[in-house]
Amino acid sequence: MAALIIVSFLGILGIYWIASGPSRRHKRHQTLAQGVFPASWRAILKKQVAHYPLLPDHLQQELRRKILIFLGEKQFIGCNGFQITDEVRVTIAAQACLLLLNRDSDFYPGLRQILVYPNAFYVNRSERDAAGVVWERHALLSGESWSQGQVLLSWHDIIEDCQHPFDGFNVIIHEFAHQLDQEDGHADGAPPLPSSERYQSWSSIMQREYDLLCRKADAGLPSLFDYYGATAPAEFFAVVSETFFTRPGPFAAHHPELYAEFTRFYRLDPAQWR
Ligand SMILES: [Zn+2]
Repeated sequence: MAALIIVSFLGILGIYWIASGPSRRHKRHQTLAQGVFPASWRAILKKQVAHYPLLPDHLQQELRRKILIFLGEKQFIGCNGFQITDEVRVTIAAQACLLLLNRDSDFYPGLRQILVYPNAFYVNRSERDAAGVVWERHALLSGESWSQGQVLLSWHDIIEDCQHPFDGFNVIIHEFAHQLDQEDGHADGAPPLPSSERYQSWSSIMQREYDLLCRKADAGLPSLFDYYGATAPAEFFAVVSETFFTRPGPFAAHHPELYAEFTRFYRLDPAQWR
């Protein structure tokens, strides 16, 4: 009888623990956001993150809050002898948090670790061809997002992006857009949206623009979006997210409906920041 009571008690405790998860997480985030943002970190933001001085004051403040939470929650691991410093942590956190700036988000809930390599790195890939034969190959990457809780990044490529912040490419934004896309368990170019109407609008505009990019890539025609976005809908979302933050003016001018869809998703209008 006593054992039965203990088992029932533990069961209730377990259910309570799971049910109270979101509020415990919210409290932890609030506590982390109240921490001190060191002056040396502000200096890193000014030096490395070109978006930071363009943001209105309230968004600069919000970005600093989100960086504190991000750095309080995520683990950074240096690979191939790479040394993790505050410059590395703040530079990556700031650009990862640009994507969350105005969204009521859970801070990449599936993500636990950021693995940073000094340069582009090799990963093993198995790919099945049209005949069903599986090929093993070595792929050289500047970044990759895994659904098991890791993002992999090359510091060399991050520094290149910091030096050319508005050229349409940003490996951090690309990989963390994949994390947002993967939040519902599928990397399919459709991140979680608040209503079925939003999904309808999202999928019709995304499909139309994805098909357009595929046709341009096939014909070798000029495109604002990198051809890599034509390899899969998930890559299209990541590539368009890069363009949204790094070439927002031309994006808004040439693809207004898609741009409007992204402003609704990210709750930001980067074309107004300059
Ligand atoms: Zn990608």
